This record gives sequence, structure tokens and C-alpha cells, in this order.
Amino acid sequence: SLEVTGIELAFGNNKVLRGVDLAVPAGTTACVIGPSGSGKSTLLRTTNRLLEPDAGDVRLGGQSVLRSNPDELRRRIGMVFQHFNLFPHKSVLENLTLPLRKIKKLSPDEAVAAAEHQLDLVGLRHKASARPGNLSGGQQQRVAIARALAMKPEVMLFDEATSALDPELVKGVLALMAELAKAGMTMVVVTHEMGFAREVADQVAFMDHGVVVEAGPPAQIFSAAESPRLQQFLSQVL
Ligand code: ATP
Ligand code: MG
Repeated sequence: SLEVTGIELAFGNNKVLRGVDLAVPAGTTACVIGPSGSGKSTLLRTTNRLLEPDAGDVRLGGQSVLRSNPDELRRRIGMVFQHFNLFPHKSVLENLTLPLRKIKKLSPDEAVAAAEHQLDLVGLRHKASARPGNLSGGQQQRVAIARALAMKPEVMLFDEATSALDPELVKGVLALMAELAKAGMTMVVVTHEMGFAREVADQVAFMDHGVVVEAGPPAQIFSAAESPRLQQFLSQVL
């Protein structure tokens, strides 16, 4: 399970997170929705310690991550970004093997075997020797997901993983994410894809101005929202 409690974070005078609480039981998917600037990306970045919070705690499997070493955390939490963040001058295979060797300390042979297996699972083994730039955006994002999964993380964080994709490529990436959720991965998915949130999420959390204003099962959030701010947000995006 992943438990975020009372997270506060300011950039200078700008209080971006003002006491965020989010509990994601193991094997479930939480979708985080909310307006631009509400703090969604900052929350994910704080969860895997790309940012250090001013207050609050993040617990993974009951253990605070704020005291664990960052390398260990990168092993335990996988993150996928909007813009893939692949190494452009490395092959697809090397994009997967590099972190396996550097962070997981696998031998070269073990890293290649694990990477090829993971590429098989996302249907991109045949692109192993290609450069990311020669792949479609959807394929690049699937490589980025495979790279994170190869580390065998306990939790996966997705930050608008499909926002930069051409519309016809969005479906394939969402399908892969839905498959992962179904397979029992613990996931936090920041998304504008309300259809995905409705169908795949166990829990939807609505963020506004640095707090989770309302969270609950999709049926509640999309059909029986309590907070006026959420009702207003949904009326704009649905
Ligand atoms: P979007 O939907 O547009 O991605 P978001 O909900 O992910 O928005 P964040 O990126 O978390 O929002 O940003 C929240 C606030 O924090 C914004 O006001 C933003 O300007 C500010 N912010 C984010 N990153 C930084 C940074 N590195 N330095 C200073 N301010 C930042
Ligand atoms: Mg964002």
C-alpha cells in the first residue's frame, strides 16, 4: 500500500501542496484528477522523492520513504512521465538495461534477459535495437512503461502518460495501463482521461489548490460528487 499523509510543499511563497492525504491499498489504482496547477505533478514528484516535502509522510508497505535512500526508492516506485524521458542516444534495449545494471546491480546478461522479457510483454521486442526517436510516440511511451516495470516496482506512478500522444496512439497506452491495473499493480495515475478513470480506477481523487478535495469510487465522483468545486470541474471536462 501507498499512504500519503499531510504532505505540504511550497516553492518560495507559493504553497503548492497544503496537506495532501491519499491512501492507495496494494493492488488498487487511484486516478488523480484536477485543474491545471492544482499540484498533481508535484504530488507524484514528492511521492518518489524527486521533491522533498516540508511536512507530512509517504509510506510504502507501512514504511516511511522519506528516510529510505533514493536509489532504493527508485527501485520500489516506477514513474512514467508525459514526455517519456527516454535516453535518446541509447537503443530501446539499453534504455531498459541501464537502470537494471546501475540501480538493480544486475549483471549485463541478467539485465538483457530481464529487458527482453519486459519488451516482449509490451509487444516491442522487435524494436530492441532501435533508437527511441525512430519509434512512434505510443511505442516510446510503452518503452518508458516497460523500463519502469523491468525494475519490478511495488508502485507505478503515471503523470499524464498519454497527454503528449496523437489521439490514435492514446488507446494502446491506456490499454497497457488498464492491463497492469487488472494484473494487480498498485498505481497512481494522474490523468485527463475521464473514461479511463471511470472504468479502471478503484478510487478517484480530485485535487484543487493543493489538497484532495474529494476522493471515492468512480461512481461517487462522476455521478454523485459532493463538493461544488468538483461538480464545476466535471461540468467543464465531461
Ligand atoms: P497540470 O495539470 O498543468 O500538469 P499540476 O496539477 O500537475 O498541473 P503542478 O505541476 O504540480 O500542477 O504545479 C502546481 C503549482 O506549482 C503551479 O503553480 C506551478 O507553477 C508550481 N510549480 C511546479 N513546479 C515548480 C517548480 N519546480 N518551481 C516553482 N514552482 C513550481
Ligand atoms: Mg502536471
